[in-house]
Amino acid sequence: MKVRVRFAPSPTGGLHLGGVRTVLYNYLFARAHGGDFVLRIEDTDQTRYVAGAEQYIMDCLRWCGLNPDESPEKGGPYAPYRQSERKQLYREYAEKLLASGHAYIAFDTAEEIEKMRKDHRIDEHSHAQYDSRTRGLMVNSLTLTPEEVNTRIAGGTPYVVRIKMPEHQTITLHDMIRGEVTFDSSQSDDKVLLKADGMPTYHLAVVVDDYLMKITHAFRGEEWLPSAPVHVLLWEYLGWKAHMPQWAHLPLILKPDGNGKLSKRDGDRLGFPVFAMNWLDPKTGEITKGFKEMGFLPEAFINMLAMLGWNSGSEQEVFSLDELVQKFSIERVHKGGAKFDFEKAKWFNQQYIHKTSNELLADRVKPYLDAELGIGNWELGLLSKIIPLIKDRCTLLPDFWAQGHFFFSTPEIKEEETMRKGWNDQKQQFFTEWVAALGSLSSWTHDALENSFNELLPVHNLKKGDVLLPLRIMLVGGKYGPGVFAIAEVIGMEETVKRVNWVLG
Ligand code: GLU
Repeated sequence: MKVRVRFAPSPTGGLHLGGVRTVLYNYLFARAHGGDFVLRIEDTDQTRYVAGAEQYIMDCLRWCGLNPDESPEKGGPYAPYRQSERKQLYREYAEKLLASGHAYIAFDTAEEIEKMRKDHRIDEHSHAQYDSRTRGLMVNSLTLTPEEVNTRIAGGTPYVVRIKMPEHQTITLHDMIRGEVTFDSSQSDDKVLLKADGMPTYHLAVVVDDYLMKITHAFRGEEWLPSAPVHVLLWEYLGWKAHMPQWAHLPLILKPDGNGKLSKRDGDRLGFPVFAMNWLDPKTGEITKGFKEMGFLPEAFINMLAMLGWNSGSEQEVFSLDELVQKFSIERVHKGGAKFDFEKAKWFNQQYIHKTSNELLADRVKPYLDAELGIGNWELGLLSKIIPLIKDRCTLLPDFWAQGHFFFSTPEIKEEETMRKGWNDQKQQFFTEWVAALGSLSSWTHDALENSFNELLPVHNLKKGDVLLPLRIMLVGGKYGPGVFAIAEVIGMEETVKRVNWVLG
């Protein structure tokens, strides 16, 4: 049987890194087994729908290089891949469940349900739920006669279809990460399957679509584990148990201190991104920063995510996507939550900056220079020369500007005091003569520049250490950067002379 997996997000906002990790594990599993990776948009909850979120999810997947084989955008043999466009299809299954007595119609208003929850509260802290204990007290097809039900429907009274959860039945699920997981069916309420507007809820739609789309393995976040018994029963009640996918519930991604699930708010509070890409909330106008815009390479982001909850069993941490496809196994995913560590995320980025080709890096750095200098106001050829000089000093992509801006324009001297410290006639004389000598250099290379510099030192009774830092500050504006002679080689004679002369006055 062909492996088919799916990522089934609800388009409700930014894509949390946990969501991207779910995509990644699905993707790796599909690739390793020659299977298909499906993107299905679960947009049946109109109240939570956020415009633009679907496009944003697809853009994030594209940036990560985790492209689905079938999706709303791409189409495929099981289209449509957007649940709102499949609306008509679900009612048939709700009716099948009604006919077999595994579901029932309920007319209760929100106020009536709220009243029941309070009146029949279990204890001080927990309200009652709509379940085997309370359903007999409510207005539904179990308590009304068939005639009463029909009259209400004919009269246009809104109704929902609910699953009839059995009482104290043990439901067992084999999870590829957790092994056997058992549930008491009475823990779950009688979930709504079909809403008053005719839309299915997630619970019905996810089972119907996983079946119709021939999904063989369903990997999703641990937060869905409590819903799993409802899904298992639906597979059974619809007569599809033999086709039920194998499940894996992925561990949570935790706050850096391990105290609970990592949220967008933690990112805001601690100054790191939680979403894959910048997310503009259309309701509030608020922009939440993403890993992409913060300057992460997608390959590094992916590698970091792979390791959040999985290890290969060796010391190796840096894996290309192809290597991950080879090595990844869902059984090696941990049960316990994985703590997010932003420093480690940056470490991964640094590793990838180091190993990415200069050409590809130039391409990735380009947008940052466009933003700083304006499109068309700088040369790609210059960037190509700079990248090898500074890549080992860069952790995030904006660092290429911070570490290399002085190659593009004359810097402001921020360390003038340090430069002038111990300045004397001797040094003034030294630099004046060096600048004069530059015109007659046989070649403009860093070696030739350094040799001419070194040769002049004894003439003025100076040591290299006396004049090297001043030269760096003249060229860079500060006390950082790659080798000074390499900088001079790249910026050229005219600019080198100009920067030194500015100091000499
Ligand atoms: N629509 C669910 C979500 O938003 C998908 C859960 C699942 O994969 O079953 O996460």
